[in-house]
Amino acid sequence: MVEIKTDSALEAMREAGRVVAHALAAVREAARVGVSLRELDEAARAVLDAAGARSPFLGYRPSFAPTPFPAVICASVNEAIVHGIPDGYRLRDGDLVSIDCGAELDGWTGDAAISFTVGTPRPGDLELIDATRRALDAGIAAATVGNRIGDIAHAIGSVARAARCGMPRDFGGHGIGRRMHEDPHVPNRGRPGRGFPLRHGLALAIEPMLMAGGDDGYHAAADGWTLRTDDGSRAAHIEHTVAITEEGPRILTAL
Ligand code: MG
Ligand code: MG
Repeated sequence: MVEIKTDSALEAMREAGRVVAHALAAVREAARVGVSLRELDEAARAVLDAAGARSPFLGYRPSFAPTPFPAVICASVNEAIVHGIPDGYRLRDGDLVSIDCGAELDGWTGDAAISFTVGTPRPGDLELIDATRRALDAGIAAATVGNRIGDIAHAIGSVARAARCGMPRDFGGHGIGRRMHEDPHVPNRGRPGRGFPLRHGLALAIEPMLMAGGDDGYHAAADGWTLRTDDGSRAAHIEHTVAITEEGPRILTAL
């Protein structure tokens, strides 16, 4: 079931989204060569704690997961696409890092992700991140009253295709509100004019995941969580929580 939010609910989601933005900014600030993924998780955790926010990631256990998620961020490095578990791995020069973070504040949730490089970027990584950002921007631009979910999906997929990037077929965005994952599913490719109609008060997490190799193949790592590209090429993941409004799309997870 798709829940349409009141304007005051969207305001509350904006506050949760702001906490996510601050947590991601703290992670970005802390990330440099030699810093461990667990330390990045601690940086995000400190922001959530200070804001009195709960993590919807910590302890989360979807049907595919063998264990409850042990952290407040996902940290996915290089050929990891999404859902990486922050561990003792220390960032190296040239790593491409994707950080996903959520926060629940006063019963409402925000969800966002960033991708960046540390040290000297490897050839192609900044272009991959830029294509992912453009895919997200195109998806957000299509998130307008009167459009449908398929218009967002088509906008994202068109940018990925033009950039010759692959995308994991079974993963995409989602409705969001009191819970992190609500209906409807927001695919990262699709046909325009199809799917659920976008209305004022609908809140969506839009999240392109691009794989530089151009292949759509991916698999779960031995931990049962981390998704990796089959061809070993690098991946980027950028996400915002967005409200559809009569005045146009409103990004809820901006600073
Ligand atoms: Mg996310
Ligand atoms: Mg999400």
